[in-house]
Amino acid sequence: MSQHAVRLCLCLLCFILLSGFASSPVRKDRMYYEQRGEIVWEVPMNHKMLALTFDDGPNPKTTNMILDLLKKYEAKATFFVVGKRVERFPEVVEREVKEGHEVANHTYNHVYFSSNVSMDTMEKEIMDAQKQIKQITGHASTWLRPPGGYYNERLIQVAQHHGFKVVLWSWHQDTKDWKKPGVSYIVNKVLKNTKNGDIVLMHDHVSNSTQTVEALKTILPELKKRGYQFVTVSELISEKKKEVMSQPNTKR
Ligand SMILES: [Zn+2]
Repeated sequence: MSQHAVRLCLCLLCFILLSGFASSPVRKDRMYYEQRGEIVWEVPMNHKMLALTFDDGPNPKTTNMILDLLKKYEAKATFFVVGKRVERFPEVVEREVKEGHEVANHTYNHVYFSSNVSMDTMEKEIMDAQKQIKQITGHASTWLRPPGGYYNERLIQVAQHHGFKVVLWSWHQDTKDWKKPGVSYIVNKVLKNTKNGDIVLMHDHVSNSTQTVEALKTILPELKKRGYQFVTVSELISEKKKEVMSQPNTKR
């Protein structure tokens, strides 16, 4: 081996070793995104508040049944709507807004943002849904829930670029109602795990199922009896901000 080749080899070795030591990989897990405030899973707080969230709608049958129940128990909720369904059933979303609920973004076609989905597709999915939401509600939603909860660094970049915050759900409040697990499963999942600041995951559009509606007939009165207030995601987050401002030592 020539002297020149030996020097080159050493240089390559130095580069590999140095780059390995200098940049230990950052684990981009829940803690990473939660600490940076880029994704919200839940909002631990002192107040007895929680946010019910409903994905995949609107559905003219079940969403309206849910809206009737929310009205009966003076509950506010957040609907993560699918853009193409907003286009089909705008009157349901109009009712959501009129009755004080929050409408947020769940993409246009309900695309899972897995690793092979380009940033352009993500952007189009989000902004097409946003256009529908804006048309009905008159203002832009800042909350985005990617279908299936799929997220990655590229999605975060797209979300930030357009001023969205990604909102997922409390892991202990994943009712799995989309796979029709039975009314009592949904009821127990919520009632046995309720904590202040929870974000509960439900679906107002599950084909041929009214399990979520039936479960709410038990969940809403029981949690109300326990003193919980049902608020939108925006209200939950702004309440937390107020708590933090008034108590400097509150966990942020
Ligand atoms: Zn969904």
